[in-house]
Order: sequence, then C-alpha cells, then structure tokens
Amino acid sequence: MNFHDTHFHLDLMGDPEALVKQIETNKCYTIAVTNSPSVFFYSRSLSLGTKYLRAALGFHPELVSERYYELPKYLELINQTRYIGEIGLDKHRKSAANFNKQLDVFTKIISACRSCGDKIITIHSRKAEKEVLQIIGSNFPGKIILHWYSGPLKLIETALNNGYYFSFNLKMLKSNNGRKILQKLPIDRLLLESDAPFTLSQNQEYHSLLFQEMVFDLARLKKLSVNDIILSLNKNFKKLLK
Ligand SMILES: [Zn+2]
Repeated sequence: MNFHDTHFHLDLMGDPEALVKQIETNKCYTIAVTNSPSVFFYSRSLSLGTKYLRAALGFHPELVSERYYELPKYLELINQTRYIGEIGLDKHRKSAANFNKQLDVFTKIISACRSCGDKIITIHSRKAEKEVLQIIGSNFPGKIILHWYSGPLKLIETALNNGYYFSFNLKMLKSNNGRKILQKLPIDRLLLESDAPFTLSQNQEYHSLLFQEMVFDLARLKKLSVNDIILSLNKNFKKLLK
C-alpha cells in the first residue's frame, strides 16, 4: 500500500538523507515543509532526483516575529515551488505585536499565492482558526490543507464549504479532541501527515508503521474497512495534486 505525508519536517530529523531513501523505498509521497525560507534550499536539494519527495517553502508563524526580515526573500522564492508550508497563524501565548506581525506576513503570503493560482498549502492555525479562514476565504484558487486542526467544531463547516482539506496525524487520532473533529469530517477531505518530529514520543521512530497505524485508527473511528480508507486517502491525495 502507498501512503502520503502532507506535513513532514524532514530538515529537523536526525538523518534526513537516510529518511529520503526510506521515503523512496516506501513510495510514500511526502511534502517536506520548512519553517523559514533559508531552509528551503536544503530541503529542495534533498528532493532533487527523487520521485516521492517535494520541498515546500515555509515561514512558521512562531518564527515570523524574530525573522520578519526574511519576508522579502520568501516572496521572491514563491514561484520556485508549488508547495507552500508551514505557514499560518498562532495566537497561543503571543503578544498583540507578535500576532500583528504574523497577520501581516500571512496576509502577504496568501495574497502572493492567490496570484500564482495552483499552490498546495499546509497551514498552522492554533488559536487563530477564525482569522486563518477569514484571510484565505471561500474562493481561493489553490488547495488548502489545515494541518493538525484543533479549533472550534463550529468552524469546520465553513472550512469544508470553502473546499479545504484536513490532515491528521497519530497524536490527533489518539486524542479526544482530534476524534471529535474527525467525526465532523467527510472521508473525502482527509489526508495523512506525520508532522514528525513533533508528534513522535521518545524513542519512537519515523517509520511507515506510523501510517499503517493511522489508517487502522481511521478505519475504526470512521467505521469503514481499512481498504476503503486507503482507497479514499489515495483518491484525496490525487485530487489534491490535480
Ligand atoms: Zn509542523
């Protein structure tokens, strides 16, 4: 079986080069997100010549305030890849000044992506889900993936009406809140993500077994067969790339 991983911090792992080989062997389509534009070149160099790995251009909301000066560089690079992330907003324990900078950066990046048309974007929205939805809106020309969504259940319907996808990791599938969110989602909007290394417990390795466990959990929680879940996930991922 083929898996996909729409949110993986490859550059933050212990041995990225070995993991690239693993991704290729496992035929696991992987979006390697980055946290700042200066890291993009490294991830892209790892992805060159691979079939299953794509490097995404990111600017993590929690780094925006201290690395605000990287915004022009970010916008300059935006045409070099179809994959964008990790970007977004994070209001958790942030000052108003910090959040305002995030709003500025996020709005500019989304507006640049809007004019490109076909971007695939993986988005962080902790405690700022409403703002994220407002800024992206309902007729965004690319594909939006809400990564590790943990916001209010009542915003899910708007996100679905707007055409967004939701990517799930193992931590979400093991948590009550994640399961409540899952119940609100139709299977044709689900995608998988590892968000490694952030989801890994101590001594837990990034491995294809993680994806198998996610698929088994999804099948159980959605009361579907493992086969149906895999078929649906593969279909969703194909649609995402279209
Ligand atoms: Zn992440």
